[in-house]
Amino acid sequence: LFVVFEGGEGAGKSTQVRLLADALRAQGHHVLVTREPGATEVGERIRNLLLHEQPASTALTPRAEALLYAADRAHHVAAVIRPALARGEVVISDRYVDSSLAYQGAGRTLPVDEVSWLSSWATGGLKPDLTVLLDVDPRVGLDRVGARGTGEDRIEGESDAFHERVRYAFLDLAAADSGRYLVLDANRQPEAIAAVVAERISELLPP
Ligand code: C5P
Repeated sequence: LFVVFEGGEGAGKSTQVRLLADALRAQGHHVLVTREPGATEVGERIRNLLLHEQPASTALTPRAEALLYAADRAHHVAAVIRPALARGEVVISDRYVDSSLAYQGAGRTLPVDEVSWLSSWATGGLKPDLTVLLDVDPRVGLDRVGARGTGEDRIEGESDAFHERVRYAFLDLAAADSGRYLVLDANRQPEAIAAVVAERISELLPP
């Protein structure tokens, strides 16, 4: 089973990934927790390039950025996700293809169908069984991230309009394929969100 958590900055994805992994492990499932970008050694280097190491004089173009995310994802799928699924593990990823459609597509205004094509090429067409979208007003989410003291990467400095485009891109993706998505209000208590996620997972994964 392949489960993905998506959402804007400060939506609480990492908390929910941890709560779901703990709950499934307590039921005896083998769980692999992973994330994008940066789940592999090469991915970690790509993540640094994307988020931390760009001198202003060499700011990446949106297409170059999209290709780096795709490269990270291609390696992630081949080296981590597919092998774990083949071993019968539950894979939980913090971000996946939809983040590229939302950030590189809607956010950076690249044509979303082209980013979609690039992503399916990178993944060989691997899709999650369930995508949990944690929806949050970007101003609320960014405040939370700031409050955590980690508000220093490139994306967090983008405009409100950028973050609004990202938010509505995620919501549009979920609306277009409602069977594969669970959309939850990220303002709710983490435990309440986790309970709804666990309920949905239990329908997909008998204990
Ligand atoms: O989820 P996390 O905070 O680790 O993501 C790192 C950063 O990378 C975030 O600022 C996120 O907006 C950005 N990102 C992106 N495009 C992606 C995935 C992540 O801009 N496809």
